[in-house]
Amino acid sequence: MTKIEWTEETWNPVVGCSKVSEGCKNCYAITMANRLAHIHATTELYMDTVTKTAGGLLNWTGVVNVSEGAMDKPLWTRKPTMFFVNSMSDLFHESVPFEVIHRVFAVMALCPQHTFQILTKRADRMAEYFKKYENGIGDKIENRVYQYLEYMHGPDGRLLPALREAGWMWDETYANNDGSIDKDTELLFEHEGPLPNVWMGVSVENQKCADERIPFLLQVPAAIRFLSCEPLLGKISLAIEAPEWDDAGASRIYSLEGRRTDMGRPCSDTNKIDWVIAGGESGAGSRPMHPDWVRSLRDQCIYSKVPFFFKQWGDWGPHPPKPVEGKYTGAGIFIKPDGRYGDQGEWWDGTATAMDRKGKGKTGKKLDGIIHQEFPKK
Ligand code: SF4
Repeated sequence: MTKIEWTEETWNPVVGCSKVSEGCKNCYAITMANRLAHIHATTELYMDTVTKTAGGLLNWTGVVNVSEGAMDKPLWTRKPTMFFVNSMSDLFHESVPFEVIHRVFAVMALCPQHTFQILTKRADRMAEYFKKYENGIGDKIENRVYQYLEYMHGPDGRLLPALREAGWMWDETYANNDGSIDKDTELLFEHEGPLPNVWMGVSVENQKCADERIPFLLQVPAAIRFLSCEPLLGKISLAIEAPEWDDAGASRIYSLEGRRTDMGRPCSDTNKIDWVIAGGESGAGSRPMHPDWVRSLRDQCIYSKVPFFFKQWGDWGPHPPKPVEGKYTGAGIFIKPDGRYGDQGEWWDGTATAMDRKGKGKTGKKLDGIIHQEFPKK
């Protein structure tokens, strides 16, 4: 079990990372990795992933290790489960070889009973991977799938029904009368379209990340495409500027609707975002989230009929200001819509919102009195 509200389990076939953008500033996984580096059973796996800086703070070293022990975990989990892939790393980190990513996809292909949520901040490398191997299920993954079949169950093909269910095809004339296949039979596995049980997502903590990462996400084949706007660090419009490399000649992409326009005129359609998650930050050094930022995402999702999941406020929650003789009396800070914040003396000018650091357990997950925890339809 995991405490992450929008999934059921975490699966970490690779561990270790390095910071890549503002959302990584207070990366919770670093502290967790450091703890695991000091636990006997996981020392070897985590030991070289974390270091202490000159200032005494923990940080990633950039070393990424493959967890051979965890790689097969979903294969041995019978109960249909929603897995968040790599809570302790980024699957598309520059140090993760594509060969390792093939293995991860092979496991997911062999587990149609589960749902896998892959979330990355390296959207460009994710797009590069899929471009190189078409649907991410090129011959490299096919080979891996076949190796797993043999490794798990011998060459009798008992997993073939699972593969069939996952949308894989092969020439049935090679199979025996009972549907099994012989060890030395070379089957050409083929798969059309994305794996139906794999959701692909990118983290977007502010507008800059949205503009940079969403266009890559829209390019990759996926059953469900999603955004994790967590920690939310600014107001985000999901109608983003089209990048120069987009060959549709569009100037704007309405990512929640899969529409492109050029100077207001409709262009060709594109893929769309199917799910948006948002949440605030918690832990040491956590930054407050202006309520208008999360309201904006909620409203954009409602307008475009896209499921919206508000995870929680984080450590900072909104506090109704109680001005006494023009001064706020709470213990919190004021945050302006542009993200600047300060104490009440400096900021009580009517345009800022009061936020109190009450702790994650107390701020809750209601937005304007309502819990929004929707999931996309599979
Ligand atoms: S990408 Fe994720 S795991 Fe890696 S440093 Fe950033 S927040 Fe941490």
